[in-house]
Amino acid sequence: MKMYDITVPIYEGMPVYKNKPEKQPKLEQVTNAHVTESRLSIDVHTGTHIDAPLHMINEGETFETLDLEKLVGACKVLDLSEVDGGITQDHLQRFDIEANDFILFKTKNSYDEEFNFEFVYLAECSAKLLAEKKIRGVGIDALGVERSQEGHPTHKTLFGSGIIVIEGLQLKEVKEGPYFMVAAPLKLIGTDAAPARVLLFEGLNV
Ligand SMILES: [Zn+2]
Repeated sequence: MKMYDITVPIYEGMPVYKNKPEKQPKLEQVTNAHVTESRLSIDVHTGTHIDAPLHMINEGETFETLDLEKLVGACKVLDLSEVDGGITQDHLQRFDIEANDFILFKTKNSYDEEFNFEFVYLAECSAKLLAEKKIRGVGIDALGVERSQEGHPTHKTLFGSGIIVIEGLQLKEVKEGPYFMVAAPLKLIGTDAAPARVLLFEGLNV
């Protein structure tokens, strides 16, 4: 059994959304005598993280309402490395997508070393298709599942259908195919997202 850690590292100076300085994590390390303790200040959308509906819907549900059982189980990695811009319904035609699938999109974003303003995202028509198919979640290797679309239709379509959204994955080393996923977010209460450790296991059939 092979394990892939598809989480990005968190550090000061890491890639953050649109390179906004206020989105950088801050680590303050204090040493008194031989005791060292660090304080971490972090945006909940830093690096690999899972969104809650509150992120895009006023009065939407907060992070603790997400069902952890939906974050552990079979998933499919689809390779869309050839796509520029938005992943559309046409791009998804060749794949076998079924109800309850958790779909991770591997794109050329996984090869970016820094924030790319032209990152590949999920177009609204794909979100609608995935909602019709009643999948349980999507993951993408960008810090956003959409890129500044007016009104955030991709997020709203996915959240409106109870589809979980994981952003900021790193899929460079992972080939297209079936995996077992363990996505373990911080157990935050009342927030619009939570950073997560996400692991994929190859050849683990549970
Ligand atoms: Zn987010």
